[in-house]
Amino acid sequence: MPVREGDHVIPMMNEYIRIFKSAKAKVIISRDWHPTDHMSFKSQGGSWPPHCVQNTAGAEFSPDLKIPKDAVIVSKATDSAKEAYSVFDGTDLASKLKAQGVQRVFVGGLATDYCVKESVLHAMKLGFQVAVLVDGIRGINAKPGDVDKAMNDMLKHGAIPVTLGDFPEVEALTGEENPAEVIGDDPLTKDDAKKKARMRPKGSYKQVRRERG
Ligand code: ZN
Repeated sequence: MPVREGDHVIPMMNEYIRIFKSAKAKVIISRDWHPTDHMSFKSQGGSWPPHCVQNTAGAEFSPDLKIPKDAVIVSKATDSAKEAYSVFDGTDLASKLKAQGVQRVFVGGLATDYCVKESVLHAMKLGFQVAVLVDGIRGINAKPGDVDKAMNDMLKHGAIPVTLGDFPEVEALTGEENPAEVIGDDPLTKDDAKKKARMRPKGSYKQVRRERG
């Protein structure tokens, strides 16, 4: 099931993973993990070609994705009879995160107009603050405009749009907010910029970067 430019999210997500790891944040990697007769497949009357079938090459993560050793892998949509675009649907991820005191989640990956959107909306419904890693997502756009509509939906419900540029090293080092720097030529309001500044994970980002040479 192709997503145009889907592979473009990999270097971005690798960079986010590096930043979040240096801030000691948890990294959760989710995957579709369908049985061969999943209801979403065209052969079963669904809309999609067969994809992400359990224990097949199609369900493997890209070898280019740098998955941390301590990442939590969440498999979803494992029941033949149920679709689950949201990573919180039919999994125990929400209760696990809550038990660990997690309040904020940052979401990237594929696809913007399905699993990303549904996971983001679901997370907000569950009471998490949510940032969308907008340079680390790509959509399917089955109908033209689907991706734009998905973005609007997420933002309308309170998700914060975030890009790699929102993690300036000097700010992470001092832990101080500098809204002027965040705004740049980005058409965000000052309020948005402040919200974004608050969403940043704090940590020794710069130090880790220096150690890597
Ligand atoms: Zn699927």
